[in-house]
Order: sequence, then structure tokens, then C-alpha cells
Amino acid sequence: MKYISTRGAAPILSFEEAMLSGLARDGGLYLPESIPTLSHGDIAALSGLPYEEIAFRIMRPFIGETFTDDEFAEIIAKAYAGFGHDARAPLVQLAENHFLLELFHGPTLAFKDFAMQLIGQLFEASLKRSGNRVTIVGATSGDTGSAAIEAFRGLEAVDVFILYPHGRVSEVQRRQMTTPSESNVHTLAMDGHFDDCQARVKDMFNDFDFRDGVRLAGVNSINWARVLAQVVYYFSSAVSLGAPHRKVSFTVPTGNFGDIFAGYIAKRMGLPIEQLVVATNQNDILHRCLATGDYRPDGVIPSISPSMDIQVSSNFERALFYAYGGDGAAISALMDELKEGGFKVSQGAREALSETFNSGRVSEEDTLATIRNTFARTGELLCPHSAVGVQVANAQRIGHTPMITLATAHPAKFPDAVKSASGVHPALPPRMADLFDRDERVTRIGNDLGAIETLIRERIAL
Ligand SMILES: *Cc1c(COP(=O)(O)O)cnc(C)c1O
Repeated sequence: MKYISTRGAAPILSFEEAMLSGLARDGGLYLPESIPTLSHGDIAALSGLPYEEIAFRIMRPFIGETFTDDEFAEIIAKAYAGFGHDARAPLVQLAENHFLLELFHGPTLAFKDFAMQLIGQLFEASLKRSGNRVTIVGATSGDTGSAAIEAFRGLEAVDVFILYPHGRVSEVQRRQMTTPSESNVHTLAMDGHFDDCQARVKDMFNDFDFRDGVRLAGVNSINWARVLAQVVYYFSSAVSLGAPHRKVSFTVPTGNFGDIFAGYIAKRMGLPIEQLVVATNQNDILHRCLATGDYRPDGVIPSISPSMDIQVSSNFERALFYAYGGDGAAISALMDELKEGGFKVSQGAREALSETFNSGRVSEEDTLATIRNTFARTGELLCPHSAVGVQVANAQRIGHTPMITLATAHPAKFPDAVKSASGVHPALPPRMADLFDRDERVTRIGNDLGAIETLIRERIAL
């Protein structure tokens, strides 16, 4: 299996190389050269299997020669061992033909654990074999940083440095990043906003001396291995509702388009998905684009579903690549236009997108009302992101096709919004109940590239 760039001008890579490099050299995103398909019988045979076995069968064709079957099975087993639910991704019913896929039973209580836990084990296995070490640097507004720290803590071949904006993450998010005690975890509270943290990370990647010297690696949501890990739960949930013998639809709370794009890959692999519905909060660039064809970033308005507060949705480039029939030059031209303010999707590409994708947008008030109503009707407490999904699904559901809405985070990660909507304070799961008693370890640092680079070099003692 070979990987190509969405902009058509970067070297073709193996799975292992694409995973370790993240972004392609032409600025594009890696995709498999062709998408393997599963037969009706292959999909039917997934029914009733453990999550790990489904994961193995879905992902195996994409990893090529990178790992043997035994190695890959062990990587998967380790990745999901720390989840707090035997089913890994359990499905609960909300209403007639409407189901909620709970993706928040991982170690940091958000769906990002599905991909990050796997990528941690993939990196470790690959680096141990080559004898290399890497330094992972990431910026976070909360969820990605804690998921990365949980995934890489204690691994031998990796140091992980996470920059978060001092004083601007929730207490649960901060404690998840500052309480791990392993010496390869380095949590940095930087002065400034999330955008400043992200800008310093970009600066480090553009400082080639530093980048090569410390062997910098990135694990943000454009990494293909992260998308791949997310394909699995589309299959596991659909077969438990009767696929491939009947169709299902999904509604996905969306920011960077990584999670819903994994659903698109599942569909291309043969899973009978009728609709993939993009659910956005008031930061609705994707909804506007799917409705009008115009992709034009506006300023970000902070919301109660902060993990979906985005201006530019990086993984949308992958969907555009397929909508434009795999024309890398066309995608490259669109991305140039984006630098000038935005672009218009061609008529043909719009039609291709609308065959699969639908969309909706939810206001802050309606998000709170959905948390309140869903709790009253079902007893299920939704986090604000999941509530955006449930509200859009409620408005879209048509006919007899079951709708599965993805619940992307545990309500206890966003206690203030959940409490104000429902009157109930969402409790942390028992295995995390001592989070507020654990010691914190964090380094304050200024918004200063030189100081950050010096600290990283010292910590990894190069
Ligand atoms: C990251 C995140 C999202 C958005 O997922 P994308 O893959 O970026 O579209 C939604 N909800 C939560 C809780 C998240 O952490």
C-alpha cells in the first residue's frame, strides 16, 4: 500500500513513512493510492466480533508491510487496553431509530483517544525497530494535548512536549496534562492564546536546524494513521445495527473534518452509509461551504463546544481531493486561493460532495436546550459537542434508516456548560475520580521561540 499527496507533488510513501512524516512536503495530506474494499460477506462477518478484532480486519490492508500480523494485533491490543468500557465504543439508543455512539471511554474521555492511543503504539513499535528517537511537539486548546500525553507517556523512544495557553484551558483538561509523572512528558503553560502556541509549534517545524536536531514529529489530526483508526468504529457500530444488510447514517460533530472523513473512507470501503451529516456550532464554515459551495474563513467565535471552534478545516482537503476526481493540481490551486481569502467549489465537485455529505449548524442556545431535553427524555448527559450532533440529527432524520450520532467527549470534560443546561453536575468516571488530588507538574514559559527551543534541547539532553 502506497500513499500519495492531495497536492500531487510529493514523494510517494509507505504507510510507515506517511505516519512518521504527517504533512507531505508539497503542503498536502497523505491518502492511500487506492482504497481497499470489503465484500458484503467480509462486512457481515464482523458482526459480534470484539472491537480489537474488527480494528485488525479494517486497518490491516492499509498498513502494507510495516508490521507483521502478530505485531499489529499486539499494537491494537495495547492501544485499547486502557479504555474504561469493554465494548470500547458502545452504542446506546436515544429514540426510535436514533442511536448515540459513545466514543468517550478512553483515558482522556474524548474520541481522540481512539486514534492517539493507536498512534502511540505504532510510533513506539516503529522507532524501537529503527533505534531512532523522536520529539513530539504539539499545541493544544485542551483535548488533543491530553490525548497525546496519555498516548505517549512512559514510551521509551519518544519525548512529548505540549504547549497550552496558560489560564485558558478547563481545570479537568489542565490536570489531565499536568498530573502524568513520567519523565518523557513535558507540559508547558505558555503565555498567550492557543493561536500563539500553534504559531510557535509551526516556527519550530520551520526551523530546520532545530527540527532535524531534535527529530521533531507531529501527531495533529492530519496524520493519516489517526484518520485510519477512526474508520473502525463506523464499521463496528453499523454492523451492530444490521449492516451490511441495511443502511445506516451518521451525524458527526465536526471541526477539522478528521472524524467524519473517516466515515467517508468507511463508505468507500463498502460500508452501506446513506448520509454523513456534518454538524457544526456557530463556527460554520463547513456548513456554509456544503450549502453554498463557498469556502471562506470568518473569525472564530469562542463557543461552549471549543473543540469545534475552527476557521480552516484541514482534513476537508482530503474530501475535496476525491470530489475533484483525484486532481492534485486542482487542489493545490484551491489552497493557493484560500491564502487569498477563500475559494468556490466547482459545480461537479459540489455534486460529488452532496452525494455523501449533508450538514447543519446549531446555535449556543439550541446546544444547551438539546443537553437539557436529551437528559429529560433519556437520562443521557451529553457534552456540548455531542449535543450539537444530536440536534442536527434530530432535524435531519428521514425515513427508516437508523441514524448514529457520534458522542465525541464525556460530559464531565465540560462540567460548567452541562450543569448550566441540565442542573446536573456530571461526575468523572470512578477510575479518574482522584484527578483533583494528584500532584501537578508544569513549566511556565513565555511566548518566546528561543526559550522554548532551549528548554526542549536541555530536556532531551542533546
Ligand atoms: C476534536 C473534537 C471534535 C472535532 O473533530 P474533528 O475530527 O476535528 O472534526 C469534536 N468533538 C470533540 C470533543 C473533539 O475533541
